[in-house]
Amino acid sequence: MKDINTPVKFLKGVGPQRAKQLENHSVRTIEDLLYYLPRRYEDRKTFITIDKLEENKTYTVKAKITSCRLHRSWKRRNFSIVTANATDGTGKISAVWFNQPFLAKTLKAGQDCFFYGQVNSYQGKLQFNSPEFEIISEDEEKDALNVGRITPIYTTPKFFSQRQLRKLVKASLDGFISSVKEILPFDLRSSLKLPNLAQALINVHFPDTSQLLEDSWRRLSFDDCFLYQMLILLRKSGQKKRMAFSLACSETLLNQALNNLSFKLTDSQQKVLDEIRQDLIKPVPMQRLLQGDVGSGKTIVAFLSSLIAIEAGAQVAFMVPTEIIAQQHYRVLKQLSEKFKKQINISLLTSSTTPAEKQNVFSKINNSQINLLIGTHALLSEKLEFKNLGFVIIDEQHKFGVEQRARLSKKSLQTKLGLWPHCLIMTATPIPRTLAMTLYGDLDVSIIRQLPPGRIPVQTKVYSEDSVGQAYEFLKQVVSSGSQAYIIYPIIEESKVLELKAAKAMFNELKKTYFKDFSLELIHSRIEQKEQERIMDEFYKGNIHILVATSILEVGVDVANANCMLVEEADRFGLSTLHQLRGRVGRSSKQGFCLVVSSSRTETGKKRIQAIATISDGFKIAEADLRIRGPGEFFGREQHGMSDLKIVDPVRQMHILKDARMHAIRLLAKDPSLGLRQNTALLDVLKRKYPGFESMMVTA
Ligand code: ADP
Ligand code: MG
Repeated sequence: MKDINTPVKFLKGVGPQRAKQLENHSVRTIEDLLYYLPRRYEDRKTFITIDKLEENKTYTVKAKITSCRLHRSWKRRNFSIVTANATDGTGKISAVWFNQPFLAKTLKAGQDCFFYGQVNSYQGKLQFNSPEFEIISEDEEKDALNVGRITPIYTTPKFFSQRQLRKLVKASLDGFISSVKEILPFDLRSSLKLPNLAQALINVHFPDTSQLLEDSWRRLSFDDCFLYQMLILLRKSGQKKRMAFSLACSETLLNQALNNLSFKLTDSQQKVLDEIRQDLIKPVPMQRLLQGDVGSGKTIVAFLSSLIAIEAGAQVAFMVPTEIIAQQHYRVLKQLSEKFKKQINISLLTSSTTPAEKQNVFSKINNSQINLLIGTHALLSEKLEFKNLGFVIIDEQHKFGVEQRARLSKKSLQTKLGLWPHCLIMTATPIPRTLAMTLYGDLDVSIIRQLPPGRIPVQTKVYSEDSVGQAYEFLKQVVSSGSQAYIIYPIIEESKVLELKAAKAMFNELKKTYFKDFSLELIHSRIEQKEQERIMDEFYKGNIHILVATSILEVGVDVANANCMLVEEADRFGLSTLHQLRGRVGRSSKQGFCLVVSSSRTETGKKRIQAIATISDGFKIAEADLRIRGPGEFFGREQHGMSDLKIVDPVRQMHILKDARMHAIRLLAKDPSLGLRQNTALLDVLKRKYPGFESMMVTA
């Protein structure tokens, strides 16, 4: 039998270069490719004709291009429009793209094309606004993968067209599907009327009917939740059997630091700190999730808890998702530990740490000279090994996977001897309680319910795209009065490159026009780490007035003097992202402002804008999010990124998650090892999906 773990580079037509691009999308093996699911589908069996189109609706149209031209603007630098005119015999339609001049070379008169997107009315005529398109080749009619069927549309890696990717997926299905093993027990599958796994994988890519398509998504979504639930259930029972350092100490350091604070902890912070203190002295590892709205003051609670571990003689690892937050925490905590230099040895480790310095950190960690290490994913480096890691803190945990969190806990000599560190994971993405229990069933939960005193809720103002000038004016006034500000542009994963261009272009324009009297900088994830560091440093110091950025600033950044944020095309962000972004301002006793610029193109977009404009409490935002999105259909999900689920959106599809949890509990109750000993296919998949899975469990 062929092995579905075969690397994709062995497929015909995949050279090293393409293999690398696939890898960027986490596709390494045939199995990964089979699970590389379409982001949407087009029914290319019947087409609507151009004469039937109505404005503000979304369509797929098949038409022949009659002309295509590029227009550069004289008024605005770096601004261009490509216009293609097309017809299907029943009428004419044009399509426009902004700032993508190269399209003028791709699209030519005479080509048959699919256009997909929203149709708007412009100067009395219908027009596609930046549609997706696919050029149909001459011998199209023979080509059954692309037309005349429900056609999958993927997020294409670089160097792949939709058509090439479809071909590759089809070839993998043809060659390897017979090696896909069923993982669910037959009675479970039949009671839920789920198709078998091989059928589901075939039909999720190339469905013959919409019913088959839906069944496939139902099956794959169930698996996604079921495997995740197996993981956390098994891990929970494993954790109970583990031993930990008891971090008992006199808490002198903690008390000194508390007295040294420039503010008083809120009751909520104090309560959570107490919960953690009680856990740390127990000989079983703490597994605690700390939830608290943006700005509620989680960092200080984490720091104060570390002091217990440090006084008890253990090392602390503090992992955060971005370089910017690592730098920031390092700066803040270093200052807080200044008075206790003798006891606290703090250090920073990120991907931009120089090799020499890294070596230095590795050895000092190894012999316990450093006892508080802050860093990014770099903390997972093979070469890093703690001597006696007693406490692990993970900030913005939704940006990490289960496996990464587990990996950090194992990076200590002591762990190898069977003593596990205590673990505190923090998140500002509030989720409804019932969901938290299902999603984080293996964790104890603490919540910081109040914001520090004196905070005034951020004022949120909505502007239409036509009146963005007023928003700029407002921002200008705020900055003129001595505050700093952010301007945020959406960069969505799919068309990163183009959108980045747009953000850069806008930055250049704003710098020369509206904000020419101010100092502006642009920051995004493609900028080198050192440079990011410099920019953030200048911003902290107040030397930059306005920071133009992407959602790289979504989490964690804490600059109190920045109290105005302008978000462009705000309806393109999810509600929780908007809330996180807004959380960057209003971090002082001054009134903060969030200027939301949006001409909502969709109904849900409008509702999100309305919600962000009227609700400031994070937990209420989470509920509104659930309400707006509703228990959803299967695909077309918005990225929520708060769990290890790959397919299912836990907020919208909580029912699947709950269902899967129930079935996983039942299966394990019947015989705690049934799923594993008898069903090796299930075990194999768990191992592949969650590397390091076995070591997360204690199999006694
Ligand atoms: P988050 O929970 O979003 O991570 P931070 O830990 O960044 O929030 O805290 C936000 C700001 O509030 C920080 O500048 C911090 O110093 C300050 N802060 C935290 N706790 C209090 C408090 N009890 N009183 C006043 N300010 C506080
Ligand atoms: Mg934080």
